Amino acid sequence: MRVIDHIIHSKHTAFSFEILPPLKGNSIQKVYNVIDKLREFDPKYINITSHHSEYIYKTLSDGSYQRVNIRKRPGSVAIASAIQNKYGITAVPHIICKGFTKEETEYALIDLNFLGVYDLLLLRGDVKTLDVTKETNLYHEYATELQKQVNNFNKGIAIDGSTFEANETPFSYGMACYPEKHEEAPNMESDIYYAKMKQENGADYLVTQMFFDNEKYYLFVDRCRNAGITVPIIPGIKPIVFKNQLNVLPKVFRSDIPEVLANELRKCSNDDDAKTVGVEWCIEQCRELIAHGVPSLHFYSFMATDSVYKVAKNIY
Ligand code: FAD
Repeated sequence: MRVIDHIIHSKHTAFSFEILPPLKGNSIQKVYNVIDKLREFDPKYINITSHHSEYIYKTLSDGSYQRVNIRKRPGSVAIASAIQNKYGITAVPHIICKGFTKEETEYALIDLNFLGVYDLLLLRGDVKTLDVTKETNLYHEYATELQKQVNNFNKGIAIDGSTFEANETPFSYGMACYPEKHEEAPNMESDIYYAKMKQENGADYLVTQMFFDNEKYYLFVDRCRNAGITVPIIPGIKPIVFKNQLNVLPKVFRSDIPEVLANELRKCSNDDDAKTVGVEWCIEQCRELIAHGVPSLHFYSFMATDSVYKVAKNIY
């Protein structure tokens, strides 16, 4: 069943979460452990993040440095297929502009089709540590360009313009949006303009960046609706698990921490205290969102499986 069908037909607010592929060299068992723990809440779909390669400096035996390009978390496509086969839960691999070249993206789409994985989340990907991709024509610049490639693939048009028989089951997909504005967008209107473009070009739904203040989400949804965006806007939720996230999350994700929550976190003497505060806040946040009638709650569960479990236990 497709994500959009789960969202539309789910009797209760759908539960879903996101996992990261294990660090290169680690077993997939780590992924299964997360799923085994959260399965009891009947996840309707599971997202698998995707990560571009990064430059690191390796120290050589003569003391000099070598700049090498490595992918720390490979395997999103294979993990998606493994999850779907093992658990029978819809898997949603993230496809990012800066993770694969356009050609590699095409090969990934071919693999996914063979594997029977038809739901995707299309994203640009974080580009903070990248430089080369900007200088080449090998990669898409924006998620909307990647979206065009997937749409063309669905029609049987390859990246080089050649044609093939379109697959029986086309890919469907969601895309990202930002209740507190994407950091590079000059203003909210511009960001919403591109969010609407994502809908017009075929995105079934949008998933938000994490937020901790529901009012920001409600306001954003209102602005989107006024601008003509009608697709479901799924709240992305993260329980705070470390005290230092008080400063890290606003810096990395541009998500404000409301003063009431910030104040509680400041009072915490360690991460265990912060986890308790994070879970309590998240439970209240989710209860309110459910009462508000949100279609689905999507949890960012990286390093937060236990907290997501406690939250889900209280709200499902
Ligand atoms: P885009 O939609 O391309 O937007 C980027 C910026 O460009 C925005 O400011 C937008 O307003 C503007 N813009 C959009 N389209 C155009 C256009 N056609 N012309 C000009 N400007 C345009 N990152 C990862 O690396 N891996 C992941 O797995 C991952 N998963 C994520 C999941 C979710 C739900 C979210 C919300 C984010 C995720 N990210 C992930 C982070 C995301 O890739 C970054 O936030 C990235 O900076 C923007 O991605 P995007 O798809 O929104 O990009």
